Amino acid sequence: MFEKGKKTEVEIIDLNHEGKGVAKRDGFVVFVEKTVPGDTAEIKITDTKKNFALGNLIRIVKPSPDRIEPLCSHYSQCGGCQLMHMDYKSQLNYKRNRVQNEFRRASVNVDEAAIYDTMGMEEPLRYRNKTAFSVAQKNGETIIGPYEEGTYNTVNIAGCMLQNSQSDKAVEYFRQLMEKYGVSAYDKNTGKGTVRNIVIRSSRNNELMFIIVTSTDNFPNSLQIARELSQSVKEIKTVVQNINSKNTNLVMGYKNITLFGEGTIDDTIDNLVFKISPETFFQVNQSQTEKLYSTAIEYAGLTKDDVCFDIYCGIGTISLMAARRAKKVYGVEIVEQSIINAKENAQRNNIKNAEFYAGKAEVVLPKLYKKNIKADVVIVDPPRKGCEKEVIDTIKSMQPQRVVYVSCNPSTLARDVKLLEEGGYKLKKIQPVDMFPWTHHVETVCLLTKKV
Ligand code: SAH
Repeated sequence: MFEKGKKTEVEIIDLNHEGKGVAKRDGFVVFVEKTVPGDTAEIKITDTKKNFALGNLIRIVKPSPDRIEPLCSHYSQCGGCQLMHMDYKSQLNYKRNRVQNEFRRASVNVDEAAIYDTMGMEEPLRYRNKTAFSVAQKNGETIIGPYEEGTYNTVNIAGCMLQNSQSDKAVEYFRQLMEKYGVSAYDKNTGKGTVRNIVIRSSRNNELMFIIVTSTDNFPNSLQIARELSQSVKEIKTVVQNINSKNTNLVMGYKNITLFGEGTIDDTIDNLVFKISPETFFQVNQSQTEKLYSTAIEYAGLTKDDVCFDIYCGIGTISLMAARRAKKVYGVEIVEQSIINAKENAQRNNIKNAEFYAGKAEVVLPKLYKKNIKADVVIVDPPRKGCEKEVIDTIKSMQPQRVVYVSCNPSTLARDVKLLEEGGYKLKKIQPVDMFPWTHHVETVCLLTKKV
């Protein structure tokens, strides 16, 4: 047993779904951050619950062969990465195992499916095309950075190894400009101050959008600051002020004021051009997204006779890739602005066989089916909570030839695949993709086909 407050030595044997090390004693489990299977560690038990305990790492007694020195000097404080102490190849193995285990736990017949090694990156750094940082005042100085693990305290960082170096430069110039013009940082506790967050988006050809999230419309010298910022960092193509006056942990509000440039940037996937607005959802890791989507499209096996549904389509990225290969594509997405963007993107890329519907998938999909619009291939790419029951039930009634499931959460993926198995489908292929190196997140593409 583990006792709260006590120090003890444990051997780490596994990682849990949050990337925390797992050790066992007398059938009792303890989770310890920043440890790797194979480590012997001295830990302090910080909390005990009915079925498990939590521990803090005091020191590594004997390191695992999979342990490495973290590349980033902010790793011990920053809440952004969880696996920087782990060799990259081991991270990829961990992600594959995690997906496999989730399927086993959900009693999916995973041993008859092909489960491939996680598709990783050759250079797993500076991959993010979007970063959000908080802005705060500390000891009379403006600081900008991510939140500390588990808190809303800003960590002052010199740069982030996951974003491109131009973005690092832009953050530092902006910090200096805030000081030069006496712009205050917003303080959550008092509700006073102007700048809450900054969000930087970048495109494949290195065009930057710099978004300044403020607590009010009133942002003195905003145009001058935007101009100076874009002069200092020539990659900045547009600067946007976003207003978030609510007392919320959401980063952005709904109102945008363009301070410099067009207010949007363009990005490309599979030679398709997409317009990115400040609030647009776009996958964060460009090169891995291409691998993820190409796998989804390959699994879809579309021909010019096929009708394809892309459920949870966002701004239509997968839909437009599918449209080039299919007879007709229907995209469904809950966020109205994304559907407006999806339609514009279709037009811009001269794609005429894609139709988009704004609404809840669980409402729109049954409606389409009632109108006798049926798919040969259904692609779903739901948020973390997975597909709604009505979506799964409609797929089961419709009986498309193939279902391609793109997932950012292996546990809801396994749950939904189990339901599809019960509805006459067989799981054929499982491809984990590493979209977020150094974090515990894993994306997966699965192919299910109709049982004959
Ligand atoms: N396929 C897209 C987006 C995937 S993210 C891409 O790769 O870019 C999941 C999407 O599901 C988000 O755009 C989100 O707005 C949308 N969504 C969430 N709940 C939904 C629901 N109930 N019905 C339809 N779309 C939903």
